[in-house]
Amino acid sequence: MAIDPTQPYDDDNIFAKILRGEIPNKTVYEDEWVLAFHDINPQAPEHVLVIPKGRYVSWDDFSAKASDAEIAGFVRAVGHVARAAGMVEPGYRLLANVGQHGHQEVPHLHVHIFAGKPLGPMLMRS
Ligand code: AMP
Repeated sequence: MAIDPTQPYDDDNIFAKILRGEIPNKTVYEDEWVLAFHDINPQAPEHVLVIPKGRYVSWDDFSAKASDAEIAGFVRAVGHVARAAGMVEPGYRLLANVGQHGHQEVPHLHVHIFAGKPLGPMLMRS
């Protein structure tokens, strides 16, 4: 079910548990700002999630409240992960779902990185 992006941060969300090491993950990259790991239910041949280490519900929360250092660390890490995985050529897609219409399911900011095949048009046409 999609979450309410205005809710307070929930320390029991699944990505908070991953950050605390209470749930295993397949880490691809970690530094002082982020953890990047394989999505448990990949929707492309390569599907990596990048999350900030800080307690941010969504992109909205992060862009409003994170420090400049956290934002720079996060953005640079997303680029680094894709570059290190050889995704720049032939390309990749970034996605951050926010709130109900964005269909965000986990209330800790995450950017999806999809790659590994031609990904088609941006959104399903209905
Ligand atoms: P979203 O709909 O943008 O909130 O996406 C949440 C993503 O988290 C989905 O792609 C899930 O497959 C992924 N996910 C949920 N639980 C885990 C987990 N324990 N490890 C890795 N990915 C997960």
